[in-house]
Amino acid sequence: MTSRRGAFLRSRGLPLLTLILLACGGGDNTGTPVTPGTPRISAGELRGLEISVERNELRVGQILGPALAYGRYDDGTTAVVEGVWASSDPQVVEVGEAGALTGVAVGRATVSASFEEYGDAVDLIVLEPNPRYERDQPDDRPGPQIHAVYALPSDVEDTNLDRYGDIERSLASIQHWLGDEIGHRLHLDTTGGKPDVTFLRLPFTAQEGEERAESLLVDLAAAIRDGMGTSPDKAYAVYYAGRFGEACGSAAVEDRVAAVFLDAEGCSATAMGAGEERASTYEAVMVHELLHVFGAVPECAPGRLETSPHVGGNVQDLMYAGPEWSREVEAAIDPGRNAYFEHGLPDCPDTSASDYWRPVDRVEAPAGGVRTPRLHIPFEDWPIRCGLH
Ligand SMILES: [Zn+2]
Repeated sequence: MTSRRGAFLRSRGLPLLTLILLACGGGDNTGTPVTPGTPRISAGELRGLEISVERNELRVGQILGPALAYGRYDDGTTAVVEGVWASSDPQVVEVGEAGALTGVAVGRATVSASFEEYGDAVDLIVLEPNPRYERDQPDDRPGPQIHAVYALPSDVEDTNLDRYGDIERSLASIQHWLGDEIGHRLHLDTTGGKPDVTFLRLPFTAQEGEERAESLLVDLAAAIRDGMGTSPDKAYAVYYAGRFGEACGSAAVEDRVAAVFLDAEGCSATAMGAGEERASTYEAVMVHELLHVFGAVPECAPGRLETSPHVGGNVQDLMYAGPEWSREVEAAIDPGRNAYFEHGLPDCPDTSASDYWRPVDRVEAPAGGVRTPRLHIPFEDWPIRCGLH
């Protein structure tokens, strides 16, 4: 007789948070989250199977996942089971025994999992990787704009965040959120209608970068100048594959460089660029640092901290830098309109006047009252650990 018990499958490096979210994502059941490292056997009877995958798109050469097969049990619990995986076209998507998905060639394929008498399937599309550019490409439009950079210390493994679309998704989710939050989006530097992302191999190692501490941003700015040239019209949104202590990001205001630190100690393992409508920690940090570049928080603003260009009053403010907080936060841009965005204070700089914004066109406004998801930041990432003091 076959066992109806779900066998726990090791998480294989999937971030803890992702796994818990996936485990809780089964809708209205009261299932116990699957905790990596803690085998859990369901006492219930299997009632169905569901595949969970980060997204339905991957690039040629990319390995995604693993996809996970969840058993649904009659007692309301779910558990990862060791399903048998198959691809409708292994020439397009290869699926490993443990559910790892590899993009082999451009096309579409269906990946299925079966366990006991149940099965589930997901459709996947495989696209060409984005081209990689090591120079600023011809701009679609002139004027002030934000140019994205994927910056790797000399010794850090290249995980293709530019080629596999992660940075593009991160920027898209920032744009979605900003349009909804303040009715403005960023003037992004695009080429051929797509974000122009420059790949920059840095002349220093991750360790050297960390030792530079406060001057890391200045060095990043210099590396951008030397490596790809800079334009006085441009600000730079840098995805830096390194760290500087606990900081999740920082800015060099005079050089117009905003950076997020992808290997930061102080940032949870939330995925960067998880989806176009799934902005989270790294997207919040990028907007926070860009706001510094745009002039936030000006010294003339009431409520500005004496010690740093942040606010100390409203805990939900994206520029908040007050005491630690212990709940998940829905971040907002100057919700009181009294510190740095549309504050209306005479003779006090306002970031809403920045030329890096463009108002959202009416056709882009959410239709039928449908709002894009709010920017939820896990409590352990709040307030944002910013390198600017
Ligand atoms: Zn800051």
